[in-house]
Amino acid sequence: MTSPSASRREFLLTATGCVAHVLLNAACAPRHTRARWTMPLNPTVTTMPFARLDAVATNAWAVVSTPLGGDRTTFANGGIIAGRTGVVVIEGFYREAGAQWLAQQARALTGRWPTHVVVSHYHVDHASGVGGYALDGARPQLHVTEETRAAALGGTPVAPARSEALSRAFADVVLTRTTGETRLDLGDRTVTLEPVRGHTASDLVVHEHDAALTYSGDLVWNGMFPNYVDARPRALHANVNRLVALVSKRHLLVPGHGAVADLAAMTRYRGLLDSLEQAARTGFAAGRSPQETAAAYVVPLSLGDWMASKTSIERAMGAWWRELGTP
Ligand SMILES: [Zn+2]
Repeated sequence: MTSPSASRREFLLTATGCVAHVLLNAACAPRHTRARWTMPLNPTVTTMPFARLDAVATNAWAVVSTPLGGDRTTFANGGIIAGRTGVVVIEGFYREAGAQWLAQQARALTGRWPTHVVVSHYHVDHASGVGGYALDGARPQLHVTEETRAAALGGTPVAPARSEALSRAFADVVLTRTTGETRLDLGDRTVTLEPVRGHTASDLVVHEHDAALTYSGDLVWNGMFPNYVDARPRALHANVNRLVALVSKRHLLVPGHGAVADLAAMTRYRGLLDSLEQAARTGFAAGRSPQETAAAYVVPLSLGDWMASKTSIERAMGAWWRELGTP
């Protein structure tokens, strides 16, 4: 039986999406590992206490959030892709001030307010600030999966406190296709939204294929152990393999958390998922519990520095046990 404190802890982790997960993983990491977590790979356009905006392709930028300093205006990564007739921004962020900041950056860099907003999944750090884009009369189209809309309108776990702006934003959304791609035509370029599974049941991956650029949401974590709170490990693995294949064809990948990922970073991430799967399958086959297996698991040294708390590893093993126990 789960103890009251353990179930309360689990509730908080679920209810706050990836916020508590990030803080927990970072809490036990050495200072140099925390400092290296969000190192720039590309030229930086602007730096705020909570995030950086890096140029990742022509008229395309990555938001790399830096929440370990304590400012959580944004908490997850995101971005801007600008075309001749429209501007796509990626993620709704933790606070409305985060979305407002990105809208203002889009306006300063491209001369126009965002015309489209894509939210990669329903966790609070990606979705709850989305009402902030309604600035100065702007009404960008919000693109989400049905699962994200249902979670938002159901009130959980999208928002810690429901705001009128959030309800308004989610009341009028454009649902993405449930299978196959949704294409957003920006005049001189096309942005593709791909519904996938793995981190949650609501995931959307954003591609700009001509610019060799992908925004993965929380399917990919760079330098920090991924959050399995709502994960389907097999689907996660399969989709990460496809993303590694894209990056190996020179795509640059903006993960949900951590620095922009190149092929070396993606190879380490896949190595982490592989080693976790192997430990889970071995422990499951030997009749051990997820807790025992997690306690014995260490991230292989060859995979470099990963911020990984005991709780995160236990949760990942729990997710594997649920799948391995279901044929
Ligand atoms: Zn998440």
